[in-house]
Amino acid sequence: MATDLNTEGYINPLDNPAAANAQINALLNEVKQEEVAKPNISLPAGGNFTLPGGYVLGGDYASVRYDAEVRELTGADEEALTKARSGGIGKFVSTLLQAGTVSVAGMKATPALLSELLLGDRDMLLLEIRRATYGDEVEWEHYTCPWCQEEFHLTITLDEIPVRRLDDPSKRVFEVELRRGRKAFVRLPAGSDQEALLAVADRATDSEQNTLLLSRCIISVVQADGSEHAVSGNPDFARSLGIADRKAILEAIEKNQPGPQYNDVKFTHDSCGKEVPLFISAGDLFQGL
Ligand SMILES: [Zn+2]
Repeated sequence: MATDLNTEGYINPLDNPAAANAQINALLNEVKQEEVAKPNISLPAGGNFTLPGGYVLGGDYASVRYDAEVRELTGADEEALTKARSGGIGKFVSTLLQAGTVSVAGMKATPALLSELLLGDRDMLLLEIRRATYGDEVEWEHYTCPWCQEEFHLTITLDEIPVRRLDDPSKRVFEVELRRGRKAFVRLPAGSDQEALLAVADRATDSEQNTLLLSRCIISVVQADGSEHAVSGNPDFARSLGIADRKAILEAIEKNQPGPQYNDVKFTHDSCGKEVPLFISAGDLFQGL
């Protein structure tokens, strides 16, 4: 947490103009030398990392791969992203993932492969593309503490965002207890679900988006008498569910989803000593785009 300006070694030009000039010249010379030492062409930076959910090969939970590689976004990507932005947030996210992801599980990151990945793995790709493009630090020039209202310069590093891992690959399908002795089998949302949701995000209400997500992710429902009914892809079923049951399923999806927990970042504000919860959005990560 950097909240103070570094003023060590600063010479006020009004107090000592000659010394201040000498210091400025020395700094400029340092910059020049660094520029000379730089190569003319640098390859985009990138990195390998571990996916928190993993890519299941051939539907077999015994063969899951966690390796992925991203690269730095370039000027050409920036042009494509600026164009994609006018096509809505869904188009923007898929363009960003497509541009920055080199490979997943040793395979080329095609749109089809990216849409198969769990939401949490896609969030992880975004985080790593961000790291490769802008570095580890996320900054807010003027952040206001919600407790003491003090405004300060806030910096957090990407490693302060907790990452939840899916230790058991078979947990991408799980059971949720419903009211009146029923239960539902639910799967974790993947990229294709996110794309479907983002495609209607600007015109559907939150409840309508929940209906869409539930109709895609609830596989089946087991009645109190033990009979099981497939309900996948049935929005009427999602609408017929009680509000409490819908909430229970949505909360279970949220709780089980692996990946960076962007809503779970906390820091202690030095001035007032209070813990501040920080909600980070994709927009915060890609402030320049
Ligand atoms: Zn404070």
